[in-house]
Order: sequence, then C-alpha cells, then structure tokens
Amino acid sequence: MTKPDQTRNAPATIAAQAAGATDRETAGVTPAIHMATTFVRGEDYAPVNPENVYLRSHNENVRVAERLLSRLEGAAESLLFPSGMAAVAAVFRTLPNGASVVVQSQMYWGTTAWIRDFCARRGIALHEIECSDLGALEAACEAHRPALVWIETPSNPWLRITDIAGAAAAAHGVGALLAVDSTAASPVLSQPLRHGADIVMHSATKGINGHSDVLAGALCVANAGSEVWGMIRADRDMAGAVLGPMEAWLLTRGMRTLPLRMERMSQNAQALAEYLSDHPAVERVMYPGLPDHPGHALAAKQMSGGFGGLLSFVVKGGAEAALRAAGRLRLFHRATSLGGVESLVEHRHTIEPHTGIPEGLLRLSVGIEDVGDLRDDLAQALGQ
Ligand code: PLP
Repeated sequence: MTKPDQTRNAPATIAAQAAGATDRETAGVTPAIHMATTFVRGEDYAPVNPENVYLRSHNENVRVAERLLSRLEGAAESLLFPSGMAAVAAVFRTLPNGASVVVQSQMYWGTTAWIRDFCARRGIALHEIECSDLGALEAACEAHRPALVWIETPSNPWLRITDIAGAAAAAHGVGALLAVDSTAASPVLSQPLRHGADIVMHSATKGINGHSDVLAGALCVANAGSEVWGMIRADRDMAGAVLGPMEAWLLTRGMRTLPLRMERMSQNAQALAEYLSDHPAVERVMYPGLPDHPGHALAAKQMSGGFGGLLSFVVKGGAEAALRAAGRLRLFHRATSLGGVESLVEHRHTIEPHTGIPEGLLRLSVGIEDVGDLRDDLAQALGQ
C-alpha cells in the first residue's frame, strides 16, 4: 500500500493521523504501548532490533510522540522530558560556569525561581529583562553578550508578547541562542523556529497533552546537528530525564486533537475576554486577542488560528474581591495549570506574592466547554 505524501498535509491532518503512526504488528490504527525496559540480543550478540537496546535511550512511544511534535512545530528534531521544568533545566545545563544569560522578567514563576537558583549556584550572570520591549532586549544583548536568550510568549500570567524574529536577530547578533517557551501558544498557534528561534520549549503538561493527566516537557530544535543540541541529547540519555512510555503514548493521543482543542479554546477565550472588557467589576483584561492589547498586532503577525486559552483579568477591589469571585465560580475549577479541556481559575498573588502580580488578578485557563455556560459562570461570580 502506498503511503500518502504527508509532507504537504495541514496540521489538523498530521495531528489526527498521528503523523502516520499505526501499530505495525497488529495493523491497529493507533500505536501500541511498548513498556519493555530492555531488548534482546541475537546469538551474535548484536541487538535483534538495532533501534532498541535499553529503555532510557530507546522507546517507540517516545519516538512516535517526538516525531509528531516535530511535524507540528516545524522542527528538525524534538526531545521529550518528564516535565516542562526538566526541559528548561536541560537547556540551562548546557551553559558553562561563568556564562551570561538574558531571560524574560515576569514569566512563569516556576521557571524564574529555578533559573535564579541555578545561575547563583553555577556563577552564571543572570539578566532579567522585559523582553516584550525589543529595544530593552537589544540593549541587554549588546551590554551583556549572553550565551542564551530565553523568552516566553505569550507570557504566563501577564500575556505579554515578545517579537520572536526581533529577539532572534538580537540574540544571533551577539552569538547567543534564542530559546522560546511557547507553552501558552502550543505548536498549533505559533511556530517560533519559523521566526528564527533556535530551540522551542513546551510544558507538554499543558495544551499539548490537554487533559490534565500527564506531566511532560519538550524541546524542539531547528538545527539537530548543533553542539548544544548534541549536549542536550547526550545529557538526557545519560542522566536519564526521560519520559515513560505510557505518558508518551498519552501525549500522542492528546496531540491528535490539539488543533481542534486550540481552536475552541481560543474562540472561547476571545469571547470571554471581550465580555470581561465591558464588565463593570473588571479593571483590566490581559488577552492578546483584544485589539487594545499592546502586543495585539505582533501576536496577530506571529501567531495564527487564535490567541490561545490563557487570559488574565484584574478584578476591582483587590485580593478580597478577586478571591470572592474565584470562590463563587462553579464551572471553573480553582486549580493551577493551564491548557486542559476543562476551565481553571487561579489567584496568582496567593502563589507568588512578591513578584508584582496585581492582587486582584485572576488567571483563567479557558477550556472547550460551551462558551455561554462559561460566560454565565463568570457573570454570577462577578455579581452582575
Ligand atoms: N513554562 C510555562 C509557561 C508553564 O506554565 C509551566 C507550568 O505551569 C512550565 C513551563 C513548567 O512546566 P511543568 O509544570 O510541566 O514542569
């Protein structure tokens, strides 16, 4: 049977068909789960299947999920990790002691906290810059000549938009690599490698899996032959930050509906952002799909198909009013994380009180529920 030429297929087709992955042995239309930790050698002591020796290095479910992710992200190669933070750490561990890095300020707090600790321990000069201000990023690159520039766009929870092509030019101009945390966009809404980024990072725990039941991370690269990628690949193999087969299989299953889910989440979030913008109990809405968002034009240029399911808004009346509204929500679960099919609400100031987060800020991860139901829930919680 001739296989169709998949290279020209659209993301929805690539995703739905898991980039052509089926079960060769049983002819099942979904891949089987391969749990073996070790693989047999023949009488000549050569591996019976040269692709498989030991699970830390070799697993078909991991390879299937990585291939699918690479197709969606437009990457030369992808590597999966057991969490998003393990993927972040894999990039930073390639830096020599004494290096200099420029990272975005006020991005996901867990990343910031870990990078601060890591850089302090390794004697790495850390420069936290508001990278959505391209001039500030360019000046920081010139002044500090970093080895790595790390941005997050859209950022969590401020929803700031950084110019990926501009950041790539600034980084490359001083010989730095550009890494982009693209978790909030997912490979469906944005492909940073196409805009000049060297490495894309995802918390695959979020939209890529999409069902709040897998912890995973991913790195996707433009140049699989680069020295840094070789170091990352070897380190994962030897130090063992690998994803289990079951989680990899679930990621593949999740990605099959990723384009559909991102489309619905973006539509729902856009409608709720517009609703909240006109709400008398709301001070401010941060969502790049709103025309008055400072990064709207840029987001429209470097994202396609929507602006994602993540949105933040500030309730008038500070922490007390925000917590009261969050407490009244019936459909939105009060829980951290984002990108799942079910909607979540989080009061970020409770989690990171000393980072400048407005006390009245509520972050929503908008799911795929009926948008009218979500709007009604917000309406009753905000008391209008
Ligand atoms: N990057 C972003 C933008 C995130 O939101 C998160 C988690 O919330 C991470 C990275 C870390 O990912 P994980 O929780 O999978 O380790």
